[in-house]
Amino acid sequence: MIQVSAVYDIIKRYYRFLITTHVRADGDAIGSEVALYHALKNMGKSVCIVNDSAVPQIYKFIVPNSVMHIYPELPKEQAEVVFALDCPTLDRIGKTRECIPKDAKIINIDHHISNENFGNINIVTDDVCATGEILLSIFKEMKINISPYIATALYVAIVTDTGRFTHTNTTPEALKAAAFLIECGARHNEVTKNVYNTNSFNLIQLNAHVLNTVKLHFENRIATVWVTKEMLEKTKVDAIDTQELADIPISIEGVCVGVLLREMTQPNWVKVSMRSRNGFDVNNVAKKFGGGGHKYAAGCEIQGSIVEVQKFILAELEKALLQKK
Ligand code: 5GP
Ligand code: MN
Repeated sequence: MIQVSAVYDIIKRYYRFLITTHVRADGDAIGSEVALYHALKNMGKSVCIVNDSAVPQIYKFIVPNSVMHIYPELPKEQAEVVFALDCPTLDRIGKTRECIPKDAKIINIDHHISNENFGNINIVTDDVCATGEILLSIFKEMKINISPYIATALYVAIVTDTGRFTHTNTTPEALKAAAFLIECGARHNEVTKNVYNTNSFNLIQLNAHVLNTVKLHFENRIATVWVTKEMLEKTKVDAIDTQELADIPISIEGVCVGVLLREMTQPNWVKVSMRSRNGFDVNNVAKKFGGGGHKYAAGCEIQGSIVEVQKFILAELEKALLQKK
């Protein structure tokens, strides 16, 4: 890849690096950030990670102490180079934008179809399962040693973005990358334990409330679930730890689109997460509301009460499902 040598030149030439990702970072976002952090640190660079939103509990075990700054707690140092990972547009990095110096070089590494190539260098491809898979190729090309810390972080990226190797992006390349990472010392048992098998009792109680909201629509082809502010307060669960609930509605037999609606952003705004199957493209629907993502997993934020937002999103989904028939 020609851009990889350009990235390598920049890494050699500069000293102060900032790594960031999209708001409400997920496993691919955090795993990629942490892997790149270790790789740059091992090259003797000054590196910090700055994110708009807190790290979900299940990913904290891979984040070294005090390397991650969460807005508004910003690093003092001015970065010369900014890596934006798993982030389709500069807007998606949220408030972190404020700490990007005007003259910083921006390196954009991502696997979203909707990526706007906003960097000075763009390494963007949508035929990989995760941004972590792109980073692994880059590290291999640069002949960077894949330490067990790097391997574990990249394994988190791949295992989460493939839904534990169940989504359609589970390609032979994704599985080969995961196998290679385990050969490099990725602690996969620790990943499984922390990411999938350590639910707090509060989260299980929240699950019970959320399951009670499940509804089928449009000849049972759409399923919805809700998380309200009241449920979060009652069960004392942080909204950032509720991302995985998006897998519940799409798991229902016969359902083509699953929708999770969460009251978690500004008042009177709802975060919508969609998951789909059978060739139905939720990215196109999310784009209608200013959001985006991938064909089978996309999201957006919509203004209104949760009841109103459900109506808006169902209307668009039904229209798109009718066109598909
Ligand atoms: P989730 O539903 O888990 O938040 O996100 C699913 C996918 O859609 C991820 O790739 C995520 O980055 C993307 N996504 C979620 N919300 C938004 C949004 O508001 N805007 C854009 N552009 N992408 C989003
Ligand atoms: Mn990703």
